[in-house]
Amino acid sequence: MSSIIQLLPDHVANQIAAGEVVQRPASVVKELMENAVDAKATNIKLIVKDAGKSLIQVIDNGVGMSITDSRLCFERHATSKIRHAEDLFSLHTKGFRGEALASIAAIAHVEMKTKQDQEELGTHIIIEGSKFVSQEPSVLPKGTSFSVKNLFFNIPARRNFLKSDTVEQRYIVDEFQRVAMAHPNIHFTMYHNGSEMFNLPVSNFRQRIVNIFSGKTNEKLVPAKEETEIVNLHGFIGKPEFSKKNRGEQFFFVNNRFIKSGYLHHAVMAAYEGLLSTGAQPSYFLYLDVPPHTIDINIHPTKTEIKFDDEHALYAILRSSIKHSLGQFNVAPILDFDR
Ligand code: ADP
Ligand code: MG
Repeated sequence: MSSIIQLLPDHVANQIAAGEVVQRPASVVKELMENAVDAKATNIKLIVKDAGKSLIQVIDNGVGMSITDSRLCFERHATSKIRHAEDLFSLHTKGFRGEALASIAAIAHVEMKTKQDQEELGTHIIIEGSKFVSQEPSVLPKGTSFSVKNLFFNIPARRNFLKSDTVEQRYIVDEFQRVAMAHPNIHFTMYHNGSEMFNLPVSNFRQRIVNIFSGKTNEKLVPAKEETEIVNLHGFIGKPEFSKKNRGEQFFFVNNRFIKSGYLHHAVMAAYEGLLSTGAQPSYFLYLDVPPHTIDINIHPTKTEIKFDDEHALYAILRSSIKHSLGQFNVAPILDFDR
């Protein structure tokens, strides 16, 4: 009897993992921006060409990487963010899987420049399809710049399935906005094909939302706030008369991470009951801060779905708090610009 099982070489394993993490150019944008946030950057710049098909570049002024780490970061399961399984339940970073850079480098041409504050020189690395092409010392500013070109160059099926530039660019803008909305204390800019699309100076949550969605948004928002043992809720909900036909502006952030939840959405809709015409969709921008050990983020590689310990309690709190805010706004004019 002959044995037929083999361990896959790293570059093949990386390419398979990449299929899960990197669905489209916008996935790269999300991973690189989250890494920049985790690196404590105060300024993050996103540069995109041809909806990410030609170039996705993220430049940050964060902590940078040492020469050793600048190679290690491209290994699978290489992360500085967790060490033990228990750490999964006390996460304070966006990343923890150590898979994004290995995945991206497996299916694209990547150029990384990085320098730590205390070092004289930084390092400049080129890696293509998991193969290191070059690494050289380089005079660089503090922080990290990541350029991704020729995405899916070795997975033609993926590349061919990309949608039009308009559609792919929409996905990219969505990811950019989600990260920017969660971190108003960071200055974000975005350029597409040479023109500036967003320039979001450091501000508060409300002003950040207004800067992203136009000045008119401000008058449409009512603050929501609730502090309990299981959740600290803050954010804004749209006045019912400004509701829309589509679900464009509906956002949940849990511990500053954008998430999707049909269940929590239902709680919000229940609070609006009787206030909306059939099919109308309210805007909401809701931030839930919960103790990290009460959630599980590790149920999907893209981390947009999470599990809560006590979903039912969250539902009830969300519904009653929003109901309360909606009841209040008629009475008192809203001039609250504090958050
Ligand atoms: P994860 O974010 O899950 O740790 P990644 O593959 O995205 O995995 O990144 C691997 C590691 O590379 C990170 O843990 C971090 O130490 C380092 N790293 C990635 N991006 C940056 C960055 N922009 N600045 C500093 N370090 C970074
Ligand atoms: Mg990461």
